[in-house]
Amino acid sequence: MDCRKFLELISEAVDDRLQSDLKHQFSHHANICLPCRNEYEVDRITKSIVRATVHRREVPSELYYAVLTEVQKSQSSQRSWLEVIFGEAFLNPAVALVALIMVAVGAVSLLQRENAVPISADKNIIAQSINNFSATMAGVLKPTFISHDPGDVKDYLAKDTPFEVDVAALSGCDWCGGVLSSFNGVKLAHVVYKIGGEGLLYVYQVDINEAMHGTRISLPENAKASLAKTGWYFEQTPDKCNVVLWKHKNTLCAAVSMIEREKMVALLSEKGPW
Ligand SMILES: [Zn+2]
Repeated sequence: MDCRKFLELISEAVDDRLQSDLKHQFSHHANICLPCRNEYEVDRITKSIVRATVHRREVPSELYYAVLTEVQKSQSSQRSWLEVIFGEAFLNPAVALVALIMVAVGAVSLLQRENAVPISADKNIIAQSINNFSATMAGVLKPTFISHDPGDVKDYLAKDTPFEVDVAALSGCDWCGGVLSSFNGVKLAHVVYKIGGEGLLYVYQVDINEAMHGTRISLPENAKASLAKTGWYFEQTPDKCNVVLWKHKNTLCAAVSMIEREKMVALLSEKGPW
């Protein structure tokens, strides 16, 4: 089988409608011809994602992360899945396609079986936030819902949180994602923003009463004092991560990123209410 014939048959192969001898020739060619195999994979992935999203607006996370894992393997450097999809690395057509489909459907909810948020050993909210930021960068903390519309992410998280989730249209934000978890029985919401040109901004969110007066999670006294007095608290880690805490209605938010503190505060201050 030559490339031209192979390309003609892709659609039927994706739908598994090839006769057994043709199927054999088809898979033989796929095994020896990388460009054709890529074409086939792209079609196969498109169909399965479109099928999944059109009916349910959901992508099986096994498929989604399987694609990304393959792409990561094919690249020499170890990168976060976020960087792979949304960074400059639009090299692989399959990945570019997944991203395009996400744009097209607006929002993608990922079905995940395993815990998408690492469990912290530390009760301290600031320590947890910094750890979660690192986990986000490393691809360990994975949003279960991603959208270009912050309102969608807010709706997704709000369904299961006892506090007012703060998800805003930050300027320069390409997309954002959300995931829920709990710590010592306290509900937590996590929001990840991709700010064009600036990188990732992670925001930890929890009920303000738990944060200020609870025993299951904790905040350092100086942070509590600053929040009570000014509504803000700032900290910088030795490796130049900036931490910004603020109150949003009955919610304590802790943002962490590598963005400069002034820029971060400007971003977070100008956000409109949702
Ligand atoms: Zn070929």
